[in-house]
Amino acid sequence: MPYILALDQGTTSSRAILFDKQGQIAGVAQHEFPQIFPAAGWVEHDPLDILTSQLSAAVEVLGKAGATPRDVAALGIANQRETTIVWDRETGKPVSNAIVWQDRRTAPMCSRLREEGVEETVRQKTGLLLDPYFSATKIAWILDNVEGVRARAEKGKLAFGTVDSWLIWNLTNGKRHVTDRTNASRTLLYNIVEDRWDEELLRIFGIPASMMPEVVWSSEMVGRVTTPLGPGDVAIAGIAGDQQSALFGQLCVGPGDAKCTYGTGCFLLQNIGGTFRLSGQRLVTTLACSTARKPEYALEGSIFIGGAVVQWLRDKMCFFSFAPDVEGIAASVDDSGDVVFVPAFTGLGAPHWDPYAAGMIIGIRRDTGIGHIARAAIESIAFQVADVLKAMDADTGIPCRELRVDGGAAANDLLMQFQADLLGIPVHRPAVLESTALGAAYLAGLATGFWNSVNEIATMRAEAVFKPRADRAQMARCYGRWREAVERAKGWNAGGSGM
Ligand code: ADP
Repeated sequence: MPYILALDQGTTSSRAILFDKQGQIAGVAQHEFPQIFPAAGWVEHDPLDILTSQLSAAVEVLGKAGATPRDVAALGIANQRETTIVWDRETGKPVSNAIVWQDRRTAPMCSRLREEGVEETVRQKTGLLLDPYFSATKIAWILDNVEGVRARAEKGKLAFGTVDSWLIWNLTNGKRHVTDRTNASRTLLYNIVEDRWDEELLRIFGIPASMMPEVVWSSEMVGRVTTPLGPGDVAIAGIAGDQQSALFGQLCVGPGDAKCTYGTGCFLLQNIGGTFRLSGQRLVTTLACSTARKPEYALEGSIFIGGAVVQWLRDKMCFFSFAPDVEGIAASVDDSGDVVFVPAFTGLGAPHWDPYAAGMIIGIRRDTGIGHIARAAIESIAFQVADVLKAMDADTGIPCRELRVDGGAAANDLLMQFQADLLGIPVHRPAVLESTALGAAYLAGLATGFWNSVNEIATMRAEAVFKPRADRAQMARCYGRWREAVERAKGWNAGGSGM
């Protein structure tokens, strides 16, 4: 069988990608689905839209490659994380729309729990923070706000799942109610130290244990597709939340291995090995994919504005019409001319966590032009990544030796070279940039013998390497200026004037 099928179920679209034995892309299909915004700060998906868009993308990609399900050795799923679905075990019907990870409706519940003093317990057990982002308060919201649901849940009639669980439950006609450890670790209910659903946490959030899926390894045969629609009778053998899937897709399988995805925002994850460790730098600890079937951990830091700063230059400043054109404009000058751009459009994420920080461009002179500002914008992406990576290094004491990159903005050579210069370590950009889907494919392929080992996979990868070549002292000065600028941007909106 020549292919592995990766289902990449994202926030705005469902994609299906076929990979061949060499890990090359043999076909891609992508189906967008509607975003539902019922109120300010609320974001929902219709679970049936998620399912049908994903199934149709799978059917389409097979058609495009002239393949049938019999040509597919196994399928793997990488999914948007934290998004919460509750459905009836008998009818299979969801009791409400899915509450998406971006949804902030449970902020008051998080504040109340914080006041009750449970955050430290939550952190010690889950490695996370008490934030609406994660699943637990979303489940509680559905139980408390959809009529009759709590009573049905208490009778064991309802099932909870993140998107991976929902897809697999449907693909196996309700036979398997499972999730993998990487997804479980984003719910606030999974004890990642003791590797189990945690009764105390379930009690704190008021969630019946009977709703929870069985937890499996990310690379494990969990069943076969039995639905007559789509990839019939294919083995389901890989599951991971999208960021952990990308970490695995980049083969970051040893302690210290780190990857950064440069999309709208940037997601940095570093494998920290088999020992749980809490961050002293306000990063979260989470489970990584393990093929050895023992818990492995990663530190994670997210940056809100990454490639989005380029969108802003394009759409609001009208400096250019296409995002990739930023590279030529930034390259039209030798340096940023001392301009520093802090893109704190929505405050600052890890490791600063300042919701009141303001966007700022500082150091403008008479000779400052759009080239300098474009260059400062590109540099700001790299500076923010350096902030998170330094925080990770401080947490682990294991200095990162190289950074592996993917995502749309990683196509920018100038950014990648600046990143290498700034960090003083090589930046590796694989030829296949679809790390998220690739991770799910690797997990499924390894579980079914399609590939024999991570080493075998490593030999078939091609990549570009950006080596540091700038003067270290000069880069240290640049970075120092950035840190100073960040201090000036912090707290700007705290007085309420700009908010
Ligand atoms: P997402 O998955 O978050 O939608 P993508 O991985 O598709 O993001 O990357 C898109 C982002 O990358 C956009 O914010 C865009 O502005 C930025 N981008 C695309 N090409 C480039 C480029 N050549 N240089 C810098 N940024 C880019």
